[in-house]
Amino acid sequence: MSTKDDRRIVGEGTPESDWVAWPGLLEMPGIQVASLVSPGRRIVMVAPHPDDEIVGCAGLLMQLAALDHELLIVGVTDGTGSHPGSRHWTPQRLAKTRPAESLRALECLGLADVPILRLGLTDTRVTQERAELIRQLDDRLQPEDILVTTWRGDGHPDHEATGQACAEIAAGKGCPLIELPVWTWHWASPGDPRVPWERARRVELSLDQYERKRVALDAHVSQLTADDSTGQDPVLAPFALARMLRPFEVLFL
Ligand SMILES: [Zn+2]
Repeated sequence: MSTKDDRRIVGEGTPESDWVAWPGLLEMPGIQVASLVSPGRRIVMVAPHPDDEIVGCAGLLMQLAALDHELLIVGVTDGTGSHPGSRHWTPQRLAKTRPAESLRALECLGLADVPILRLGLTDTRVTQERAELIRQLDDRLQPEDILVTTWRGDGHPDHEATGQACAEIAAGKGCPLIELPVWTWHWASPGDPRVPWERARRVELSLDQYERKRVALDAHVSQLTADDSTGQDPVLAPFALARMLRPFEVLFL
């Protein structure tokens, strides 16, 4: 896993039990999705890798769809960098498998009809290809769109580059921007001063939405299995999944 400055994504990270025990998470202000997004506006979720849309905001997407919002998912990369040096999960195989997993996951959410636009940037190199990302997004986004993406301080270089590119586009077009902490839960600690907690809002998931998100996460087989050819543990190991499957999601507004 990549690292960035002091926000290192190594080891098992902060255990979910620490987050659960933190009053700041419980006391975080909630937000109703209907009050967050005005009727009729399209929501464009820009996912650096094929799973970030599920991990970061499956519940939000289901709630937006229930309110009849048009959704578009933009896949920045095809996630071919998740298994470096693997003989089993080669980049060619991942390029087919991971977008297919993403489709299956969206089916689990009841969102099989949501269009997915794949930009074909290189996994692990979004920072270097940022100008291309901005060009492609700029061509396709409208000022009325609402952008959702990974937080520009999330620690993973692809997540940060995508967040920064979306922030730049949103500022230029005047689109609202919603950012998602994904790997933040790994490297940060409760109350961490590097995290903009004052911007954080909780979206509660219904039991049905929680269960659908759990099944959708299970669709990412390539990320959930150990790799015998390299000895690599699952990318989404149980300690990571525990932080990703909560009965709520956190947005930075
Ligand atoms: Zn990602």
